[in-house]
Amino acid sequence: METVDIASKIISVPVPNDGIMEEETNAYIVHSPEQGGPVVVVDPGSAAGTEVILAALAKLGDPPVRDILLTHAHVDHAAGAAALREATGAPIWLHPDDLPVAERLKEPLPVDHYLKDGQTFEVAGLVFDAVLTPGHAAGHVVFVERNSGVTLAGDLVHGRGTVGIFPPYGSMRAYLASLQRLLDRGVTRLLPGHGPVIDNGPATLRRYIEHRLAREEQIAEYLAAGVTTIPDLVARIYPDLAPRNVYAARSTVYAHLEKLIEDGRVIQEGADEQATYRLVR
Ligand SMILES: [Zn+2]
Repeated sequence: METVDIASKIISVPVPNDGIMEEETNAYIVHSPEQGGPVVVVDPGSAAGTEVILAALAKLGDPPVRDILLTHAHVDHAAGAAALREATGAPIWLHPDDLPVAERLKEPLPVDHYLKDGQTFEVAGLVFDAVLTPGHAAGHVVFVERNSGVTLAGDLVHGRGTVGIFPPYGSMRAYLASLQRLLDRGVTRLLPGHGPVIDNGPATLRRYIEHRLAREEQIAEYLAAGVTTIPDLVARIYPDLAPRNVYAARSTVYAHLEKLIEDGRVIQEGADEQATYRLVR
């Protein structure tokens, strides 16, 4: 399916993310080595990443940056966008559903344009379709290269670990639908926001869906066995959890419970720290 020389046109630039994640964030620069011309930067990373991106651009001969595209507004993808915009004059694009997340960044994020589902970006002879893929974040967008299926995947998938879902801006139901949406679209290689390239995108998307559904059943089984709180569920599901991952694990378990509640399978009693959960069917 791959008909263009994608590898030479999409450069992965690992940028520091201030310790938010174990792994660096993969920023991507889309450029044309033969034609030169303007480039597009996807997910410049945290504020600490700006220097790294500028150095990578300098190596390419300082081409003009036409657009800064954000897959979502989490700090480890978006916080450096303002400084890069300042340095290059390029506008920032974000889906409006992620504005509530953008507002939680320490520094304001100057969003110039709203991304739309289905919007097209042509750069370096490639055509990218923006595909709205909520779940990890409400306004999460991936960029699918139309001819090759190569996809700049943001945090929809992770090259190595799993993806955290953080309600209320994240939703397990939406996340599962987004994985399926991308699978139906016939993507090929996935270039994730963290970790190595995923060569077999469809297999990974299928595995992610199966993993989430298996996790949902595991949670239902623990509830049936009398485990009733999120901390106790997390302790059973992730016995060797590193302290830095506790928040993500609790949020993701809550996201599963939220879906089970919506499905009418679980009832929540009490709120916040006191909340308990019960399987009803
Ligand atoms: Zn994220």
